[in-house]
Amino acid sequence: MADWEPISVIADKVQKGELKAVDLVKRSFDMIGRTKDFDAIISVPEARAIERAKEIDAQIAKGQKVDRLAGVPFVAKDNFLTFSGKTTAASHMLENFEAPYQATAINRLEVEGAICVAKSNLDAWAHGSSTENSDFFVTKNPFDKTRVPGGSSGGSAAAVALKIAPFALGTDTGGSIRLPAAFCGIVGYKPTYGLVSRSGVVAMASSTDVIGPLAASVAEASIILDVMAGRDELDSTTIERDTEGYDVQTSKFKLQNAKIGVIDEYLTEDLEPGVEKQVDAVIQKLKQAGTKIEPISLPSLPLALAVYYIICPAEVSSNLARYDGQRYGLFAKDAKNLEESYMLSRELGFGAEAKRRIMIGSHVLSSGYFEAYYQKAQTVRTKIINEFTSAFKKFDFLIGPTSPTTAFKIGAKTKDPLKMYLSDIMTVAANISGNPAINLPAGFSNNLPVGLQIIAPMHADRQLLAFAKSVEELLA
Ligand code: GLN
Repeated sequence: MADWEPISVIADKVQKGELKAVDLVKRSFDMIGRTKDFDAIISVPEARAIERAKEIDAQIAKGQKVDRLAGVPFVAKDNFLTFSGKTTAASHMLENFEAPYQATAINRLEVEGAICVAKSNLDAWAHGSSTENSDFFVTKNPFDKTRVPGGSSGGSAAAVALKIAPFALGTDTGGSIRLPAAFCGIVGYKPTYGLVSRSGVVAMASSTDVIGPLAASVAEASIILDVMAGRDELDSTTIERDTEGYDVQTSKFKLQNAKIGVIDEYLTEDLEPGVEKQVDAVIQKLKQAGTKIEPISLPSLPLALAVYYIICPAEVSSNLARYDGQRYGLFAKDAKNLEESYMLSRELGFGAEAKRRIMIGSHVLSSGYFEAYYQKAQTVRTKIINEFTSAFKKFDFLIGPTSPTTAFKIGAKTKDPLKMYLSDIMTVAANISGNPAINLPAGFSNNLPVGLQIIAPMHADRQLLAFAKSVEELLA
């Protein structure tokens, strides 16, 4: 199937009446049908998508101006609250949940004319790195059906790679946008913490959750970030936008002006040789382009994974406490009393990984263990933040691989949660610190995509996207 045209071209043609929003939506539905084997999609809000497309076409027929995403279809991870149909977080707990309001990110995209055509699969509650923790089904990698697409936004990454829509939304708590983007050979952008409102997105770990785009190129991702970014009164952790915005379609960042640090700790990990080779090739090309590149050590980075897997479950255990079967979500009808109703609803509603995280989280927060685990993790978190801050006094950007491996086989890590957690070794640090980071496709190893990660100083999202666009051009 043909690639989608660039988002700005699609919107322009819709505005001129050369393309109909209704036909674009139908094209997405057609692609969903053709790619069914990959199981990227949980549900299709068909009626609303068609209705919105007709409205946009009618507005344009009347000569009205629709905004810069006029008629552009997109896929949202199924932990974004959306109208029309269910929002499940890929969990049995929310299997029949219909959202009473929409996420701010979705509303902002709709205001500019974008149309949600599908809700994508994920690891239930976004807990995972492979989409195998979905309570419903496993999404397959578009490059090899026997492999995972990465996670937890695996359905969104696969949907973009399978050309179901020009872009998709994901959430990144410990790497869930960047890792699937790496495994599926696309761009995945994790903004600075707080840049995109979390209102209306099912909470995982509130101090590291961010929302971001997955798309075929940096320019495409940058338009979407530009539409979503900025303060929202429904999320008090949101921050102000950059006055210049984030759309870097026309930017020309000069690579010779950049000073780049190559993260030592990520190159000494157990890197697959094919990944190492591709990352090295990027470094050589950057050097040839005149970029100043030096190695840099952030000695506490190897502790980031341990810190993450204490803080994240602690916050998960608190965020999932609201699912007790009483207010919304699965309700165990057979319970004899209230206590049993809580227990049964949770027993039936939560899968193994959610239960594991609730137990670990409650444990590290419990009296006697709080100081030993949670408090220590917060101390090391501050150390990691400080190391990033001092690294960025010397360097504009830090680079390394997004993941030590390419997409692994379905089932390879499901029996050993610790092995699965290790997939996040290179992504979690930027969540703990809040820094913006991007996955950029960097060639292939054994026909599987390799991902390059670039991390930037806090709030330097615009600069990061502009730099990444130039790197993308260099690698093209
Ligand atoms: N893979 C990580 C985890 O399982 C990150 C998940 C995410 O970013 N949502 O926690």
